[in-house]
Amino acid sequence: MVRIRLPALQSALLACRNVYPHEFIGLFREKNGVLEELMLAPLAEYGRAHSSFSEIHLPLDPSLVATLHSHPNGVLLPSKQDVRFFSSRGKWHFISGYPYRLQDVACYDNKGKRVMIEVVP
Ligand SMILES: [Zn+2]
Repeated sequence: MVRIRLPALQSALLACRNVYPHEFIGLFREKNGVLEELMLAPLAEYGRAHSSFSEIHLPLDPSLVATLHSHPNGVLLPSKQDVRFFSSRGKWHFISGYPYRLQDVACYDNKGKRVMIEVVP
């Protein structure tokens, strides 16, 4: 189970809506076991088919344990490419599907196994 603050998740969903129909990608910072805030990846590319960011532009920050990216087609399942990405960094990986409401979010661990999300106020 992964715990995330409501405002952090809401900012991510808003960003997903803002870049639609492109894909959004961002990171979450963890504090005391809760994902507390959204961080935008510097120089991230929000593409139509997929989005990416470059590791070398990321601060060496061990609290960045989670990512979120959007699926403009609304599918909440990770692609093969996603699962490969999940295993490369971080503990938790969110996928939000269009239309990006709170219920349009799934989370996976770094092996691609779906985990429960607890949204905390
Ligand atoms: Zn994806």
